Amino acid sequence: MNKIENLSEFANKRYGQNFLKNDAIIKRIIQSIPNDNLKVAEIGPGLGDLTKELILTRNVTAFEVDKRLCEHLQTTFSHAIHTDRLKINCGDVLKHWEENSLLNENYHLVANLPYYIATNIILKALKDEQCQSILVMVQKEVAEKFSAQAGEKAFSGLSVLTQTVGFGELLFDVGAENFVPPPKVTSSILLIRKNRSEDNKDFEDFLKVAFKQPRKKLSKNLATHYPKDKIEMLLTELEISLTIRPHEAKTSMYHHLYNELNKDNIDGKQQ
Ligand code: SAM
Repeated sequence: MNKIENLSEFANKRYGQNFLKNDAIIKRIIQSIPNDNLKVAEIGPGLGDLTKELILTRNVTAFEVDKRLCEHLQTTFSHAIHTDRLKINCGDVLKHWEENSLLNENYHLVANLPYYIATNIILKALKDEQCQSILVMVQKEVAEKFSAQAGEKAFSGLSVLTQTVGFGELLFDVGAENFVPPPKVTSSILLIRKNRSEDNKDFEDFLKVAFKQPRKKLSKNLATHYPKDKIEMLLTELEISLTIRPHEAKTSMYHHLYNELNKDNIDGKQQ
């Protein structure tokens, strides 16, 4: 493929293409990868700026949906591909992920994610048993939602899911000026270190109910699906105010409430 002359014109909005053009930030991302020998899965290598640094120290499997970029990567990295340092899968990463795991060995996910599917990808990685950590660039608000602590405004169902399997932290922000073309939002680097995996759709649905109206009382949100007297009894037993808001309750409390409220009824609803 010929040299890409005008990146802004080349970038395809449909695929969330904002190319990171700052070597210092790429180095900071690389330095934040957990220190071991595990393989790296990169989603959306784009022009390969991050990939180029990753393959200096890691074996990498990359997933790129855009055919033009796939061809470009195959040419640019022909040596690394030939020596098995790099494998490139062309196509939608979500199709590759239809099975439970993205790779059939333990790996770290490292990516400047396409923002339109970033939340979905992180949720899949949290459930994927082979995935040991998630180091991704996402929209700042998304990073905050996954990494917030109970009591902080951004604490959400996504924070509870993160804390259920590990620990999330927002490492640093990356301004729009570091990309071509610049996105309309500020980005952040999010790191989630996992110590286990969990895939529990019922618990996810429970959290959606609990955080449905984030500024309302938790008891009110839960009362749309569970008996009010039972919710109040459980909160009283835990010595928790009946007026607690969803972002103020801890992850352990959500697990306790979920288990107790679903004890007698298979679908959680009282007959
Ligand atoms: N890693 C590059 C960088 O940092 O400059 C590019 C990042 S850009 C924000 C997102 C990349 O993800 C693009 O290369 C885009 O084509 C790719 N992408 C978008 N949707 C995808 C999907 N469903 N599966 C795989 N790659 C995807």
